[in-house]
Amino acid sequence: MNILEKRILEEGRVLPGNVLKVDSFVNHKIDPAFFMKIAEEFKSRFSDLKIDKILTVEVSGIAIAFAVGLLMDKEIIFAKKSVSKTLGDDVYKSSVYSYTKGVTYDIMVSKNYLKKGDKVLVIDDFLANGKALEGIYDILEQAGAQVEATGILIEKGFQNGGNRLREKGYKIESLATIKSLENGKVEFENSLDF
Ligand code: 5GP
Repeated sequence: MNILEKRILEEGRVLPGNVLKVDSFVNHKIDPAFFMKIAEEFKSRFSDLKIDKILTVEVSGIAIAFAVGLLMDKEIIFAKKSVSKTLGDDVYKSSVYSYTKGVTYDIMVSKNYLKKGDKVLVIDDFLANGKALEGIYDILEQAGAQVEATGILIEKGFQNGGNRLREKGYKIESLATIKSLENGKVEFENSLDF
């Protein structure tokens, strides 16, 4: 069992609809030292890749991506979910259906920050049905950038987004993969120690 799985078992709560609540260390409160250890694991898994930059989505992906970016010495871009006056119109945009919120929203990245040929490492907190990642990959395709790999904190393996995207050829590494949340009990698969 790895440090992330241990923490999920200790602090995670299973909500109705197969949603895992990890607010106490991912989505609402953050333990920086813990995220640095997580980032070390991502760094070792991606050490053979040549990447130019890291892309994540606001809000929860930012802290994880920051830790990885610090260790790998790469800049981080986060896709925005809301339009602001500062963002302007010159953006790559994609629509994403949110499983947890039951709504569709746009994610946007300024055309200033992604260039054709950029080699990008994608980082995010959860992978469930894969809609958020599809939106990110769509934006990278619009920019002519290349997805080198994707690092996910928690994959809900039973929702199959990860397997569908791996079959399309994406390299996706998840640090904890959940096999089942049935009866409020968290079960993992493909557990790797770190
Ligand atoms: P997907 O698009 O792959 O279905 O879901 C990914 C996004 O949905 C993540 O960015 C995350 O915000 C959210 N998400 C999906 N399932 C869960 C869950 O069980 N718990 C939490 N906290 N977020 C989830």
